[in-house]
Amino acid sequence: MERKRILVTGGAGFIGSHVVEAFLQQGWEVGVLDNLSTGKKENLPSNVSFYLCDLRDRNEVFRVVCEFRPTYISHQAAQASVTVSVRDPIYDAEVNIIGGLNLLDAARETQVQKILFASTGGAIYGEVPPDQKASEDWPPKPFSPYAASKLSFETYLHVYKAQYDLPFVILRYGNVFGPRQDPYGEAGVIAIFIHRLLQGDPVTLYARRERGDAGGIRDYIYVKDVAAANVLAIQEDLEGIFNVGTGVGRSTQKVLQTIAKILNVQPSVEWAGRRPGDLEVSILNPSRLMAYGWSPQVDFEEGLRQTIEAFRNELKEKQKV
Ligand code: NAD
Repeated sequence: MERKRILVTGGAGFIGSHVVEAFLQQGWEVGVLDNLSTGKKENLPSNVSFYLCDLRDRNEVFRVVCEFRPTYISHQAAQASVTVSVRDPIYDAEVNIIGGLNLLDAARETQVQKILFASTGGAIYGEVPPDQKASEDWPPKPFSPYAASKLSFETYLHVYKAQYDLPFVILRYGNVFGPRQDPYGEAGVIAIFIHRLLQGDPVTLYARRERGDAGGIRDYIYVKDVAAANVLAIQEDLEGIFNVGTGVGRSTQKVLQTIAKILNVQPSVEWAGRRPGDLEVSILNPSRLMAYGWSPQVDFEEGLRQTIEAFRNELKEKQKV
């Protein structure tokens, strides 16, 4: 029987590289399309076909898809930072909308069976009252250019299904954390905190509303659980929209305290105001995906421990060089 082939865009990035591993473990043949703008080649195992390609380059995207001929595409590549999107909404739209459409056109031309899209549950729903969890039917209310571009691409997926019969599944992730998350970026508070605390540096805590409060509340989900959701969505042939989260909210301060407890350190904290584009509260209801047998397997503290371990090893390797 012919092996199934999946093209993971953004496969050299944080989440994408775990998605790549998860499909390889299931015996799939994996290709990666990435421009390495935030991703790294070191994140990739040797047994994948790597294509250095920018989604905004339509001809190159067609060339890659025609050459690799995937049966499925897991579309993880994106301009993935809320803060960058607020600063530069045009760049965000060029990658997340126009780049995405180049991929969809190449997919329909080569009869790809399904496209999986990494969307955002953390940003798309807008403010959800703290006593409630956003389910997939919650009306989207983007608050940042990033959320707007993600929602726009979701809308295109519905349109491409209606016009060109290209099937899709959308996974709306919560706040993903784990090994290989970039600690130097503007997103990924857990990676930033761990990296800084391991080196004895102070950390900045952005406010939920007012400087000095406990910070925004988020639904933190471990990256391997997100990768498992990708595999399940493809293997179970899911269609439609699914939240990928835990349904539990934690404040930034709570996150910091838990990391500090595991590391047994007293962090030095710089309290800052609210960041533009950031929501106050975001908690997802993941029950739709759970009905198909998915559930988070790694609890929050265990996920932190594994992330700390990975970051420690990385720092040790760097110090050797
Ligand atoms: P990341 O920045 O680590 O990964 C993005 C990857 O896309 C990188 O490898 C980057 O090099 C690549 N890329 C960026 N622009 C590209 C372009 N023009 N052409 C080709 N490749 C390009 O970010 P991540 O956190 O791993 O995010 C992966 C996906 O998950 C994104 O779609 C993001 O919007 C989504 N998401 C992430 C989170 C989170 O908490 N990290 C939450 C919700 C959704």
